[in-house]
Amino acid sequence: MRIDVVTIFPEIVSQALDFSIMARAQDAGAVSFGVHNPRDFAEDAHRMVDDAPYGGGAGMVMKPEPLTACIEAIARDDNPAIILMTPQGERFDQETARRLTAQDHLVLICGHYEGTDERVRESLVTHEISIGDYVLTGGELPALVVIDAVVRLLPGVRGDSTSAARDSFEDGLLEHPHYTRPPEFRGMRVPDTLVEGDHADVDRWRRRMSLQRTLRRRPDLFARAPLSDDDRDLLAEIVLSGTQKRRR
Ligand code: SAM
Repeated sequence: MRIDVVTIFPEIVSQALDFSIMARAQDAGAVSFGVHNPRDFAEDAHRMVDDAPYGGGAGMVMKPEPLTACIEAIARDDNPAIILMTPQGERFDQETARRLTAQDHLVLICGHYEGTDERVRESLVTHEISIGDYVLTGGELPALVVIDAVVRLLPGVRGDSTSAARDSFEDGLLEHPHYTRPPEFRGMRVPDTLVEGDHADVDRWRRRMSLQRTLRRRPDLFARAPLSDDDRDLLAEIVLSGTQKRRR
């Protein structure tokens, strides 16, 4: 996959992509990154990328010409997904991240100030993504969130290919809790099932905890999570044991 980011603060993005799984993914050849500054495409003497809004009011707006020239230079040869980072876009989630892994080329546009001139959105943008219902100063952090979530799903990027499949939201539920050594820490013991290590028992314990966590923290997820008959039995047990505890 090729991922290009359009930003007036390229250092924020390129530095963040040089660590951990993002760096390993590049070394493994699973992804290559490009970071581009629309200021390099501005043609006026001051290389301006923003201007005052028509109609007046506070703040500035990102000008269409440098942004458009920059995006068109990147998207010359193929047909990339051109994604505008905006709080007004589709809310980003694991399903969207997985969908984006099917693309060969992503171009992420980071807005600033009051946002980008509407004509850029109308003429070039194919997707609009928000990372949540809050407003950040610029699109760099949102773009990095999207890149991280997508790249860690690409084949060959994570050592153990099963671990991504178990992550929260991948099967519609929250993941089970994790423990490592020591077996006892400040009086808190690792559950016996995990220490004993019988695979079938461990799997069942993990599934039960995953269902229990989802029930307590995000019951809304059950509306879409695919559940087996075993899952339904486990859920019934969980609900029953909760009711019995409350009665005691
Ligand atoms: N005036 C805009 C509005 O109310 O919709 C917000 C502009 S915001 C200060 C500047 C830029 O940050 C946006 O153009 C966008 O690129 C980025 N941004 C801010 N919050 C975001 C979010 N929740 N998701 C994605 N991008 C965001």
